[in-house]
Amino acid sequence: MRLFCDLHIHSCLSPCGDELMTPNNIAGMAMLKGLDAIAVADHNCARNLPALSKTCAAMGVLLLPAMELTTAEEAHLLSYFPTVEAALAFSEEIHAYLPPIQNRPEIFGPQQVLDEDDEQMGSEDLLLLNALSLSLDELVKRINERGGAAVPAHINRGNNGLLNVLGFLPPGLEIAAVEVTREIPCRADVSNLRVLHSSDAHYLENMLEREVSYEVAEKSVEALFEYIKRGAM
Ligand SMILES: [Zn+2]
Ligand SMILES: [Zn+2]
Repeated sequence: MRLFCDLHIHSCLSPCGDELMTPNNIAGMAMLKGLDAIAVADHNCARNLPALSKTCAAMGVLLLPAMELTTAEEAHLLSYFPTVEAALAFSEEIHAYLPPIQNRPEIFGPQQVLDEDDEQMGSEDLLLLNALSLSLDELVKRINERGGAAVPAHINRGNNGLLNVLGFLPPGLEIAAVEVTREIPCRADVSNLRVLHSSDAHYLENMLEREVSYEVAEKSVEALFEYIKRGAM
């Protein structure tokens, strides 16, 4: 069946994410837009996923657990996981590879961790915008070993898109799919890869409408995850 999705959204945990990007607002907006599934992929941290899994469930929207990692090369790499627990475990694992630089909320934003009522439970102290001291190769390997799916983010857009960082898609990299920004030409040949299109929304109004869909076996997080993961085969 066809699932209409937006698989790259930031919550208020991301320093660049708007403070209105709360678990309830994101889930509510996804429902209003008629989305079947979303993925919230905060920078280098998964701590808002437990609340989002509850608010999305309440709104009848599937939540695919995710993070957007910054590799040592400064490339953005999406990681998708079949469960919130797996994403949280990987979030804790990579936290040790963030540089010990404190966030400055007045400059970068408060990096809020919220509960399912949008009440603040805490905040992330280290600046999540920084690059991890793990290479692209190492992160892809670890994501695969932990049962996740590695998907280079917006490969054709911005200073952090893989094509702009490296100049090419490394052959042999065990990625499941690539995310391509639709509005910009893509100079790499991605015809043999699973291609995802998402909003990378940092504000509620930038989330996708019912406009991008994927043909999956059934309406479930497992089936959506398998669709992405199988892109590698
Ligand atoms: Zn990015
Ligand atoms: Zn992003």
